[in-house]
Amino acid sequence: MKKTYDIVIVGSGIGGLSTLLYLAETALFKQGKLSICLMSKGKLNETNTNWAQGGIAAVNAIGDNFDKHIQDTLTAGAFTNNQYIVEKVVKGGPQFLSDLISWGAQFDKNKNGGYDLAKEGGHSDARIWHKEDQTGKAIQDALIDSLSILPNLTILDHTCVVNAIKYADHSFGLGVYDSNNDSFLNIFCNKLVLATGGLGMLYQKSTNQLLATGDGIYLASKLGATIENLSFIQFHPTGLYENNQISFLISEALRGAGAILRNEQGEAFMYKYDERLDLAPRDIVSRAIVKEIGLQQNPFVYLDATKINSEILDMHFPTIKQECMLRIGLNIEKEFIPIVPVQHYSCGGVKVDEFGETSISGLFAIGETACTGLHGANRLASNSLLEAVAFAKFSIPKLTELMEAPMMIEVDIVLPILNNIHKLDVQQIMSKQAGIVKSKQGLKEAYEQLCNIKNSAVQNSNFDIEHFEANCILEVALLLIQDAQKQISNKGVFYNSDLVN
Ligand SMILES: Cc1cc2nc3c(=O)[nH]c(=O)nc-3n(C[C@H](O)[C@H](O)[C@H](O)COP(=O)(O)OP(=O)(O)OC[C@H]3O[C@@H](n4cnc5c(N)ncnc54)[C@H](O)[C@@H]3O)c2cc1C
Repeated sequence: MKKTYDIVIVGSGIGGLSTLLYLAETALFKQGKLSICLMSKGKLNETNTNWAQGGIAAVNAIGDNFDKHIQDTLTAGAFTNNQYIVEKVVKGGPQFLSDLISWGAQFDKNKNGGYDLAKEGGHSDARIWHKEDQTGKAIQDALIDSLSILPNLTILDHTCVVNAIKYADHSFGLGVYDSNNDSFLNIFCNKLVLATGGLGMLYQKSTNQLLATGDGIYLASKLGATIENLSFIQFHPTGLYENNQISFLISEALRGAGAILRNEQGEAFMYKYDERLDLAPRDIVSRAIVKEIGLQQNPFVYLDATKINSEILDMHFPTIKQECMLRIGLNIEKEFIPIVPVQHYSCGGVKVDEFGETSISGLFAIGETACTGLHGANRLASNSLLEAVAFAKFSIPKLTELMEAPMMIEVDIVLPILNNIHKLDVQQIMSKQAGIVKSKQGLKEAYEQLCNIKNSAVQNSNFDIEHFEANCILEVALLLIQDAQKQISNKGVFYNSDLVN
């Protein structure tokens, strides 16, 4: 089966859905001159967006200003950010929030009727818009609901892009696997938007959805797009210590409300590492925890929320409270929470310009899969949801220009040849050698081991998603290690113990 669209958006998180909703506001769409298809690998709400807890950063409070948000973003990013992009995104913040609200997203208000803005690690002021501790879900649900009133959209769930090629006329052909009925189709488009999210499944422990296998980075690199800063992986300092690949995230906002990190002796330790204490940026807190774990018996440290008023816990952290009880039977009002740093966010990705376009004309990357320059070497908390909406909006002028009918190539787009690779093999290597603290020897060994897996893998005769994803994570892991080996200094989240700062 073959289908053709002006624009195909791959991904149903905040990046993909905001792009779609901004497109729906254009005259072209309103005149019925724009055909759009959006697809997602799983259910529409099976996204990292849906799991975002803390919120979305934008200046609104009295006393706060754009310069402070800009400075905080640059400081977290170790001043390796693209300053022009930082200013463009931060200054657009209030408008992006207003766009989300116009699409139905709701944020908590205070007793005076104003927005109840929270403060998170690395932020010098309260500017985090949130909906309890389920902000992502509130945004995701609102954006999905907004689709129902839009005409002429094709929305395909459980539909996975497994191959992409670019034709001489600049249009794209996609090989797509429909797991609803175990079939394949070819889709053609003028412009292709990759909003496929993160790559958490490269690691053994992550806060990400199982679907986060770096597909967009894999597809873009196959098309020849520039990939940048892939080794800038943010580890969240406070993943709940439990026996699962997906770690439940204990939001920074809990530390913002007064929770304190303690070692196994119950001693607060952040004073040894940073004057901002428990609210230091994530890379500093993660490395401090790794250091403390190295000095003690337990493979985890504690987060102490027992001094926080129970009304505040109930009002702002109901999910964290409930999940700790459900998962490990722990009452956060009375007991310390065992936590460990886990893979959380990819600061790098497919390099894009200020309109979200990659080095391949007509190919766009939006959201976590992109490297926009906003984060530099480290993402400031709650700047990623903001970045996704911002670049969705910035992309519209280029995305809608020169709309010509894509050519319908009468050949099937071949499926990728998959190797029989197991995700766990890749994840173990990455977690051991390419985690929070790297070394030259570790990276060399990891690269060799990954190449061995690739070279000795036998071909898999039947196509299946599991092996497609395993191939994706292997290829993306190789790119990540190559990027790590190119780094000549430690900055932000990147730390190689053999490099002099
Ligand atoms: C637990 C957690 C908490 C977080 N909290 C915050 C927070 O408080 N504030 C903040 O700013 N950020 C937070 N983040 C980060 C933020 O949620 C993500 O960076 C952001 O939601 C990514 O949005 P996205 O649209 O790029 O990708 P996602 O929301 O992950 O969506 C990816 C989409 O791509 C689809 N997809 C992937 N591959 C394919 C394929 N091959 N074919 C078809 N579809 C495909 C998926 O099905 C999915 O629909 C958090 C992340 C996690 C995991």
